[in-house]
Amino acid sequence: MTQVTEHGGGVWSIKVPIPDNPLGHTLVHLLDTDRGPVLIDTGWDDPDSWDTLVAGVAACGAAIGELQGVVVTHHHPDHHGLSGKVREASGAWIAMHPADTHVVRRTREQEPGRWVGYIADKLAAAGAPEDHISPLRAARASGRARTVPGLNSALPDREITPGELLDLAGRRLRAIWTPGHTPGHVCLHLEEEHPAGKPGRGRLFSGDHLLPEITPHIGLYEDPDDETVTDPLGDYLDSLERIGRLGVAEVLPAHQYAFTDSGGRVGELLDHHEERLRHLRELLAEPLTPWQTAERMEWNRPWADIPYGSRNIAVSEAEAHLRRLVKLGLAEAVEGSDPVVYRAV
Ligand SMILES: [Zn+2]
Ligand SMILES: [Zn+2]
Repeated sequence: MTQVTEHGGGVWSIKVPIPDNPLGHTLVHLLDTDRGPVLIDTGWDDPDSWDTLVAGVAACGAAIGELQGVVVTHHHPDHHGLSGKVREASGAWIAMHPADTHVVRRTREQEPGRWVGYIADKLAAAGAPEDHISPLRAARASGRARTVPGLNSALPDREITPGELLDLAGRRLRAIWTPGHTPGHVCLHLEEEHPAGKPGRGRLFSGDHLLPEITPHIGLYEDPDDETVTDPLGDYLDSLERIGRLGVAEVLPAHQYAFTDSGGRVGELLDHHEERLRHLRELLAEPLTPWQTAERMEWNRPWADIPYGSRNIAVSEAEAHLRRLVKLGLAEAVEGSDPVVYRAV
């Protein structure tokens, strides 16, 4: 069954499934313009997802071949996965923020084994136990690491410029750079009156930045070629505050469902991270590696039940929180420690 919701004012959402994923689906949005329909995100690259997208676009009264463009909130495969197929089928342009385009280009060009080796080194430096790292080293050595996600994702042909209106005939859609979940994540502010007259300033396509019940993953902007010490959690909290100040009438996120109280949700997320940082600082009364920190932090299930791949994500999230504490002057890396150990100051 095609699941399409009409949100009014020439905006629809299409539930595009994500196979074998607890998130369930991506909400791909279709926005009518005077030159034809444009998509915001496209969904996971999978035959069923593609069929759902094609049927969904038809249920919005359009055809895939008529699509003029794709605006991508961020490079993750549940958002950007089908963009290349849409472009092939329609000639649509694909627009993305340059920081995420950089990630797409790097992933396409790099030898997959290099990425696996980089992750193994990172985990070792974070204090991961040998039995966790050795499968990665074995994969690298045997040449099995030939596929990594995003290897074939489409190179965009347009740049999204933060703060500017996108070139869409008859619509006011402004790009707002919201780094944190990825370095080039953008939210898109539809600066038009709400079609049902809900109070507030327009509607916001929020991607993964602001979701009604999920806290988006904030890790490190992993880049094997860049040693800049970034602060993704700091970026995220800054961009959340900026989004909160917009005072939008309704949020149209890329997962779950549309909701209205954006200010309330922003407040909850800010409180959540503040609480997490406070708890983390308490943990650091005892010096801990990032791996040990992740083991002790609270997740949606006990550490023992967290599968292998998710542990890597959890460690990167722990490191993002550690970096924030260091930036705030509330923790420090113990000099000369290897693997690195952090303590509260
Ligand atoms: Zn994402
Ligand atoms: Zn997502």
